[in-house]
Amino acid sequence: MNIQKVAVIGAGVMGAGIAAHIANAGIPVLLLDLTTPTLDKLLKADPAPLMHPKNVRLITTGTIADDLPALAQCDWIIEAIVERLAIKQELYRKLATIRRADAVVSSNTSSIPLHELVAGLPEDFAAHFMITHFFNPPRYMRLLEIVSSAQTDPDAVAKISQFCDHKLGKGVVACKDTPGFIANRIGIFWIQTAIQEAIALGLTVEEADAVVGKPMGIPKTGVFGLSDLVGIDLMPHLMRSMNRSLPAGDALLEKATIPPLIQTMIDTGYTGRKGKGGFYRLN
Ligand code: NAD
Repeated sequence: MNIQKVAVIGAGVMGAGIAAHIANAGIPVLLLDLTTPTLDKLLKADPAPLMHPKNVRLITTGTIADDLPALAQCDWIIEAIVERLAIKQELYRKLATIRRADAVVSSNTSSIPLHELVAGLPEDFAAHFMITHFFNPPRYMRLLEIVSSAQTDPDAVAKISQFCDHKLGKGVVACKDTPGFIANRIGIFWIQTAIQEAIALGLTVEEADAVVGKPMGIPKTGVFGLSDLVGIDLMPHLMRSMNRSLPAGDALLEKATIPPLIQTMIDTGYTGRKGKGGFYRLN
């Protein structure tokens, strides 16, 4: 079965970008959020032209009404809401009653393990559920991690992998359900180390990015610019998730802490580009 209609739930940094990318591939997308998503918000997340604005239908969900009929028509429902297990699971319980029997539901989670996301959900829902981890910005980052398990229907995984490869131009990497999957298992710690070392050495953000950006393969934004783009508020969720899921004695555990500077920035609204600014001022 082809993917002909997609829903993205959560019109934040990632959801808006994912929806824009899918719409530009010619696929109709429903974009849902608790607040009213607007094309402006969508374009703020991804300022490149939205070539097919008519492919995007914007819906305010309130609480994702149990009877939202539009969702029942989608072949693939992508969840891109806040990185909180309880909130995601509450949404999945509703989706389990709404989705068409063969529709796939996936999460864009950065770090919550697949087995935790599907715990307690109906078997059939779990068989059609996987993690599709897009990277920021979704339009330009080719990497897409797809996390599945023995519980996941292999045909569903193949269908989404092929669609993302052929239609969305992604390089799909199949991941096991391990803490942080592949990229964040590495990435979150180099961001953390760069912050700690810059503070310890008294470097400015510009100096630190000039040193670490290129060797880490992100010369354009640097590590600190990337953190602003991703959203500083995501970091504690990632760290907590790593802390919970890494095995006892893992050498990375001692690094899985939240620097006080990060907490202060979040508390004062400096969450990056989506907030008042971050390590860098807003343009
Ligand atoms: P965000 O905070 O920018 O956006 C989240 C959106 O979800 C908000 O607009 C919020 O109103 C909405 N929302 C919250 N609860 C909802 C609900 N119950 N129903 C509908 N909408 C709801 O978050 P983000 O950075 O886009 O992250 C979304 C997901 O993608 C998270 O799981 C995150 O870990 C993951 N992720 C983020 C990045 C990144 O660079 N920011 C990269 C990869 C993966």
